[in-house]
Amino acid sequence: MSQKTPLLDHPLSDWPVLLSEGKTMPAYRSRQVAQWIFRHHVSDWEGMKNLPEEDRCRWSDRWDLSLPVLREERMSRDGTRKLLLELSDGARIESVLIPRDDRATLCVSSQVGCGIGCRFCRTADMGLVRNLSVSEMLGQIRLANRLLTERPIRDTLGEDSGAPFLSRVNHLVFMGMGEPLANFDTLVRALSVLTSPEGFALSPRRITVSTSGLAGRIRDLGVAGIPVNLAVSLSAPTETLREALMPISLRHPIRSILEACRSYPLRNRQRITFEYVLLGGVNDSPDQARELARLLAPFRSKVNLIPFNPYPGSPYLRPDRSRVLRFQEVLLAKGVTATLRTTRGEDILGACGQLALTPSPLPIKEPPTWKTIDSSMPV
Ligand code: SF4
Repeated sequence: MSQKTPLLDHPLSDWPVLLSEGKTMPAYRSRQVAQWIFRHHVSDWEGMKNLPEEDRCRWSDRWDLSLPVLREERMSRDGTRKLLLELSDGARIESVLIPRDDRATLCVSSQVGCGIGCRFCRTADMGLVRNLSVSEMLGQIRLANRLLTERPIRDTLGEDSGAPFLSRVNHLVFMGMGEPLANFDTLVRALSVLTSPEGFALSPRRITVSTSGLAGRIRDLGVAGIPVNLAVSLSAPTETLREALMPISLRHPIRSILEACRSYPLRNRQRITFEYVLLGGVNDSPDQARELARLLAPFRSKVNLIPFNPYPGSPYLRPDRSRVLRFQEVLLAKGVTATLRTTRGEDILGACGQLALTPSPLPIKEPPTWKTIDSSMPV
């Protein structure tokens, strides 16, 4: 195994000292390195052509810039790309790249597996294997940018789609494998690189952190000073039902989650998103919609309704469309903004709650496009 240390595990502010190693180095040198990594998607020292060869050789012995290895890519009919990635210790995670209109959104994983145990989530079956490091979180975005450079959104969706020629991820959602707030310090360090002008330079407004509701950590995120969007998976309007669907509720009941949400700083027109996975016959009645509206009345919020995406062996059913629409109508009538999430990548098990590492094709009318990546392929 490589003895090199991932440079991206260190804060950008430390790079000048780390890279100079006590020698005299122009102040702009570490900024050049950052530009190669974050603007030009370079993943080896050799590719940084305008930097002195002597420095590059020295750094390449010490600092690792490698990306996760793309083991497999599945392309959905709607252009969604599910990426199976292998990390340096052999652990595997998934990221999902979702093209739509002028957006290239990457759904990022924060842990290998997840220990939260939501009953409607396929990742929960894996349990928690380990937390991701900063470089592993950022590696997903670096790799996606590399893939988009090779194959921009318009190529994926087709010439007629009218999609812009996007070759970079421009929205991020921490909704992949894992509970991001359970890997809090690493998440905040990754967010700092994502939003730094010398890093990915993404607006915090284009980043959403989704949580199952770790109340204390919601507060901590609020004081971390990076005004990302907060999404909270609620999925039940009563404590009893939520405890049955999301056992984390035993430690973080709805009332303490909502209290923590009240303290989350919102900028102009920013709102908290409450995600609500609709499970047929379980939490999708008009009465439950009314109860949800009552809970959320004090908040500047919107509800994102997510009809359950079944997967092989899942214990729940997708609700009838009429019930979904009725649920939404009740919320709207009560003055709660409620949107219905368009399911993306369902045919490749890349939709919300479907991420897990074993490929289990759903019975679909047309098979998804499969593209198995040769492990030796440079990415
Ligand atoms: S929904 Fe999110 S928090 Fe819940 S088990 Fe799945 S990955 Fe973990």
